[in-house]
Amino acid sequence: MKPLVLIVEDEAPQAELLRYNLERDGFRTALAGDGEEALLLAEEEAPDLVILDWMLPLLSGIEVCRRLRRKAESAKLPIIMLTARGVESDRIRGLDSGADDYLVKPFSPNELLARVRAILRRSDVSMGSEVIQYGGISMDLGTHKVLRDGKSIHLGPTEFRLLRVLLERPGHVFSREQLLDRAWGRDIHLESRTVDVHIRRLRQALNQEGGADIIRTVRGFGYAIDTEKD
Ligand code: CA
Repeated sequence: MKPLVLIVEDEAPQAELLRYNLERDGFRTALAGDGEEALLLAEEEAPDLVILDWMLPLLSGIEVCRRLRRKAESAKLPIIMLTARGVESDRIRGLDSGADDYLVKPFSPNELLARVRAILRRSDVSMGSEVIQYGGISMDLGTHKVLRDGKSIHLGPTEFRLLRVLLERPGHVFSREQLLDRAWGRDIHLESRTVDVHIRRLRQALNQEGGADIIRTVRGFGYAIDTEKD
């Protein structure tokens, strides 16, 4: 089943924009327009993640966050706070109240979606039947099946995670350190040339059937997936 995101936002256009982008990206959504409703829906719907506006009628986002944290069922529920305030003390208050992450309005939908996916990955929520597609490659995150131009590609678990990180932001160049961080995890200390070894394996697997090489090496820095190479 697709992950459920509870959107808590009293401004209808903003809520609608969030709903549209999340659903387009493969999430289910529930919507609460005030703090009381947020607590009710968090209990009834058991969402996988909450996007919580700071300024809300009835109960503030901060208070909703605190109350969710106090209950055992939602103590570990991932929460992203949204706010128009950008000052450091507010940021700290937001995180102190138990939010996992924080976004200052206005933010781009892509930035939000990247944060949502990162938090869900950290908290091990299955992305259900989500399929990532780019440049003839399709990755099914539920079944772990990878296809290139319709033909099955066999990848080891590390190559699978690397491909996923690269495919989630096509064209973006990731440094070796960023790839280590995202595909192996923050607490693992490996040499950056480990990344090169696994990129080589990933390349071999993807190019087995003779397609164009879509992994771009940026010398001395890192890698990207790109169909428009110079
Ligand atoms: Ca608001």
